[in-house]
Amino acid sequence: MAPMPRVAHDLPCYQSASARPLVDNSLIIMKLSPSIKALIEGLRHLPGVGPKSAQRMTLHLLERDREGAQQIAEAIEEALSKVKNCSRCRNFTELEICEICSDLKRDPTTLCVVEAPADVMAIEQSGSFRGHYYVLMGHLSPIDGIGPEQLGLEALCQRFADGEIKEVILATNPTVEGEATAYYISERARAAAITVSRIAHGVPLGGELEYTDANTLAHALSGRTVVRE
Ligand SMILES: [Zn+2]
Repeated sequence: MAPMPRVAHDLPCYQSASARPLVDNSLIIMKLSPSIKALIEGLRHLPGVGPKSAQRMTLHLLERDREGAQQIAEAIEEALSKVKNCSRCRNFTELEICEICSDLKRDPTTLCVVEAPADVMAIEQSGSFRGHYYVLMGHLSPIDGIGPEQLGLEALCQRFADGEIKEVILATNPTVEGEATAYYISERARAAAITVSRIAHGVPLGGELEYTDANTLAHALSGRTVVRE
């Protein structure tokens, strides 16, 4: 009597064929097709995408989702041609002045300074801020050649001088560069007699003290607030 197959992967089925190491398959394809190679290299520009992930995405799009691939291609092309920086806050927009800057229900006397458009999205999602923003698109980093000019800080200081802004909230990241950037802006804002505040950094809501890292705890303690009755 012929022996029974022991496990499923012993069978010469479609699944076992598709489970061959991807890298060998892809290397063969890359030799054959410059377009595939270009797509893999293009996808590697995305943050967190290494060579293997880029190969997997490329093959997935070509094998199973060409319609999705077309949608991505068109969306990228449209975004690149339409999205620019707001002339007032530097955030991404398709308009000359973005919707937040032109919203009359928002308070233009309070300005929140952030490093990136993602920070604006995070604060907007919290629903806790109704002022205006200024998006630096980075932080001071002399070693990378990023100074006040690259961050639009002269235009920001001009707005301080215009007199409309009464309070600046510094919401740059709690990194060395973020703190240095916050310090630079705070000095310029104080010189224009504007109230300056820094967002509190500390223990996350629902977090436990014993699992909070030492730096975060130190920040939380130094930024403590008085308990009101
Ligand atoms: Zn704007």
